[in-house]
Amino acid sequence: MRYRVVILVSCVYQQEFLGLSDVPSANSHTSDSVVPDAVALVDGLIGKALAASASDLHLEPAANGLSVRLRLDGVLSTIDLIPADFADNVIARLKVMGELLTYRTDIPQEGSFVFDATDGSRHDLRLAVFPTIHGERAVLRIFCEDGQPRSVDQLGLSESVVRSLKDASGQTSGLILVTGPAGAGKSTTLYTIARHILETTPGRSVVSLEDPVEQRIDGLTQIQVQPFGELNYARAMRSLLRQDVEVLFVGEIRDAESAHIVVEAALTGHLVLSTLHSGNPAETIARLIEMGIAPYQLTSTLRLIHSQRLLRKTCRDCNGKGCERCITTGYRNRTACAQAVEMNDTLRQQIIEHAPTSRLRTLIDKNNPNLHECAGSLVESGKTTLDEVRRVLGVASTKTTNK
Ligand SMILES: [Zn+2]
Repeated sequence: MRYRVVILVSCVYQQEFLGLSDVPSANSHTSDSVVPDAVALVDGLIGKALAASASDLHLEPAANGLSVRLRLDGVLSTIDLIPADFADNVIARLKVMGELLTYRTDIPQEGSFVFDATDGSRHDLRLAVFPTIHGERAVLRIFCEDGQPRSVDQLGLSESVVRSLKDASGQTSGLILVTGPAGAGKSTTLYTIARHILETTPGRSVVSLEDPVEQRIDGLTQIQVQPFGELNYARAMRSLLRQDVEVLFVGEIRDAESAHIVVEAALTGHLVLSTLHSGNPAETIARLIEMGIAPYQLTSTLRLIHSQRLLRKTCRDCNGKGCERCITTGYRNRTACAQAVEMNDTLRQQIIEHAPTSRLRTLIDKNNPNLHECAGSLVESGKTTLDEVRRVLGVASTKTTNK
């Protein structure tokens, strides 16, 4: 069986990898040789994923082999098929790297390891394996800091949104929320805000609670929490509030308990930054109230709601036609697109009066360009396409909400 390698990587294993299916090598009939082949194959696959800046590498078993898929700019692309004969060895090799139990193929397992790339860079990887009817499925999560936006200015946001983020993060207390669905780049945005705070006000005591820690930042005390373990968000936050913390990053508001502690921290003179799964700023307010946060607590703590999405950018090398650099997808890299809403007297009044979400939304959209408008201007300037906007924001995305 011949299989196709689409990504171009100058990896020392590339030749071996390419040649594997074509050349019935002299030593392939001895069982010993399978091990080095699997090592080279796996290293080659991870090397390719890194070179393509993929966030995840999937190895999905099917009847004819292991399907190799990369998550590129948020979207999965199938790039290869590993012949069924090699599948078990490839998965076994990954399990060895992740220090998982190789003899257990009937249970889900998770692990992590550090990968030394051929260019000398080191990468933190998380491995999860899961049994399926065709064998084990493996997913590698790659935490790659290269190419990630380092500063708020690099996120691709509009000037006014960037200004709102910087203004709010310069405050000494209150709550800043970055919202959106999974994969909307919320944690990347929080990391850039953390860097901004550390650079502009270096004397502050800044702590983050994360699950997992995706980027390491100098000057930031980073704590890895276990959402379902002993050191969960609520417990870690309670303990931290008794210590001398001024700025607190909380990875995610997951439930009413963490929402209450976050608000309490913001009420007691801390600047708290967190994320919440919600569609738009009005929904964010509604969700917090549903979680039992009193409207007056919300209006006295909330400084900014930053509702964000990520849109893939049209590949500049081929103008979206599809080329080697974009792995024929027509897209390369992503840009953020956001609606930022600062608390003001009108909004405060509406929240206190328990205004319905629809009215809050109309009021917010009147004063702050919404996600559809933001995406629309990105399409106009050729940075992305209408198809991409529809994929991320839905079909109604071309409509702008006037009034
Ligand atoms: Zn291209």
